[in-house]
Amino acid sequence: DFAVIGHQDNWPNIQSFINAMRTTDLEELSIEKIKGIYGYIPPRGIFKMRVKSPTGKEINGVYIETFIEPDQLEAQHLRSNIQKVKNAIEAAHTLKAKMVILGGFTSILLEGNFKDFESYNMVLTTGNTLTTSYVLKGVEKAAKEHQLVLNECKVLIIGATGDIGMACSNYLKGTVKQLLLCARNRIRLENYADQLKREGYDIKYSIDLDDLAAEADIIISVASSQGIKISNLKKAAIICDAGYPKNLEDKLEQHTDVFLFHGGMGQLTNGYTFIPDYTAHFYYYPAPFLGHGCIIEVILMAFEGIMENYSTGRGNITKEKIDKMYHWSRKHGIELAPFYNSKGLL
Ligand code: NDP
Repeated sequence: DFAVIGHQDNWPNIQSFINAMRTTDLEELSIEKIKGIYGYIPPRGIFKMRVKSPTGKEINGVYIETFIEPDQLEAQHLRSNIQKVKNAIEAAHTLKAKMVILGGFTSILLEGNFKDFESYNMVLTTGNTLTTSYVLKGVEKAAKEHQLVLNECKVLIIGATGDIGMACSNYLKGTVKQLLLCARNRIRLENYADQLKREGYDIKYSIDLDDLAAEADIIISVASSQGIKISNLKKAAIICDAGYPKNLEDKLEQHTDVFLFHGGMGQLTNGYTFIPDYTAHFYYYPAPFLGHGCIIEVILMAFEGIMENYSTGRGNITKEKIDKMYHWSRKHGIELAPFYNSKGLL
């Protein structure tokens, strides 16, 4: 029914799954050896997935690895990375997938532009709508647990001009005390902030995080960037870190009182099956059957038989779509993930 196109964000994970895919009597490959071959492997299906809904419906999918190298995400590798994503979509087409999610960086590469694939008998999505639903539900739940009332909170969005960042601010704009918006491109940020101000909302923005961070009761970080610098966090701030590589995780050491959780994640209460079972080799999760919102979005599209490109482009995610996706998620037994970060469950 569906295909998930993805990439890995670190070499130890890659080493683990590459060695798991090889037969047991072969010697383990070192990371150095794997680095020499990994980027040359053409995109291909790695394992099949089976997911069952409490409604009784069962769907089947395949995970297609792009073999994009985790340390080659910068602009100078853009052309070869885009080609890898296109080859992965071809692989999904060959495998007769009807619905395809471009996971993480792979959708950012195409900027959600799926025009080249219109003649294929398949629909595509970035998965950003359900990711946004889980980010927002996570923030609402954390605020409640920490006795914060949203309309008294200042909410900082890092990556405010991105697809998920804009979806979050459009959803929250009438319900929080003030939105603090941050991105690196000043003109884009200014245009977006001015648009929200004209709509009558209380907005503050800056390309310098330190102008905003000390005021933020809640931070939503959805930037596609490494090494985000932030120093002055408010005491006991709630941080939803949903970006990759993890945007603010390294701040945990210096700011022990903040509540930082990995956002945008769901938990499939009915479980899932991977064939062969590489679950242990792909990601570390401190709880069973967790999944990225983007991947779960295509699963829900398959359950619901949605034959249209669901999340596309930048800035097209509406409140109605966010709510609808979350409704489908609950209907098919997929809940917001428990709070966790790299140290474990919170
Ligand atoms: P976009 O590329 O559309 O947006 C990224 C945003 O981040 C832009 O506003 C960009 O603006 C900003 N940005 C990048 N670097 C910085 C920085 N150092 N400081 C401040 N702002 C920055 O990405 P998406 O909205 O599609 O995705 C956002 C993140 O969410 C990604 O990291 C992605 O991997 C992750 N994601 C997580 C999912 C999940 O399931 N948990 C699913 C899908 C995506 P500018 O260039 O002006 O700085």
